[in-house]
Amino acid sequence: MKAAYLTGHGGNEVVAVGERPAPQPGASEVLVRMKAATVNRVDLYMRDSGAGITHTLPQVLGLDGAGVVEAVAGSTSPLPVGQPVVLHPGLACGHCEFCRRGEDVLCTTYRLLGEHRDGTFAELVALPARNVFALPAGLSFAQGAALGVNHLTAWRMVVTKARVQPGESVLIFGIGGGVSLAALQLVKALGGTAIVTSRDTGKLQRALALGADHAIDGSTTDIARAALALTGGRGVDVVVENVGAAVWPQALKSLVRGGRIVTCGATTGDQPGADLRRLFIRQLQVFGSTLGTNAEFADLLAFVERHRLAPVIDSVYGLDEVPAALARLESGRQFGKVAIEIAT
Ligand SMILES: [Zn+2]
Repeated sequence: MKAAYLTGHGGNEVVAVGERPAPQPGASEVLVRMKAATVNRVDLYMRDSGAGITHTLPQVLGLDGAGVVEAVAGSTSPLPVGQPVVLHPGLACGHCEFCRRGEDVLCTTYRLLGEHRDGTFAELVALPARNVFALPAGLSFAQGAALGVNHLTAWRMVVTKARVQPGESVLIFGIGGGVSLAALQLVKALGGTAIVTSRDTGKLQRALALGADHAIDGSTTDIARAALALTGGRGVDVVVENVGAAVWPQALKSLVRGGRIVTCGATTGDQPGADLRRLFIRQLQVFGSTLGTNAEFADLLAFVERHRLAPVIDSVYGLDEVPAALARLESGRQFGKVAIEIAT
């Protein structure tokens, strides 16, 4: 089968597109013929370093994906051959302390497609039946693929961790990125007020067109001051953040007393000042989050279908063009997901 895989680490020249052995599904696994995937920041990390992630080269890249069930072998999959599906990229052991209480995303031996085993930038993927879900009605394969990492991450942040309620104000940093746009869609569908930030006026205009209530240009405006002004001096109920050190002090200053901040990333650095005095006097709550459980993915898919949400696709590349797709993500110019269409 054709796949995009790593031959080493460091820059696009280590990403090869060519023939790899087709995966052989295990006893409880399903074989999926891939139609689309999207690129994520972790693909750049794997390409450039992969440090701390146990993997062997050559390694097929790609975490999220959508396709069609090709074979169910001996698995107990309720999904028939030919069913359009989306994939959850996390493989949990099923019996550790965290798996037993339904927190499979915290599994002590968690393994991810495209990180610890061959991923989705390939014509075929084998994975456990419990990681394969029906594609929500009305979505393209590329839009479905986009749900598997960014929307799932945003769901756990907004719904499970921050528990955003109707009428609450939510400040979302770095609009244009996949998680931030997913958070915007979820907050609006939940009846919240969404305030978005970017240093790119074009991205702010597009976010307003997608339903954001207010936009703050971080290149010209003090974000905390603007967030306070937009909430009558009160501060926002929730901050959704994945930019890291560059915005963390502003993020904390934007919160109402007792407010919640949830982070899933640290693109600009992971060691900001903690501002402990503000944290305890104003009784703020800080949540870390990454990806989401299989049960959360099922809830997300039902919510997406019910509210007719569709992930924003920035651009579409072929499997041969994975290096160009990675370069597009790395440029930071994208608005929404950079997708890979896999023609088979
Ligand atoms: Zn486990």
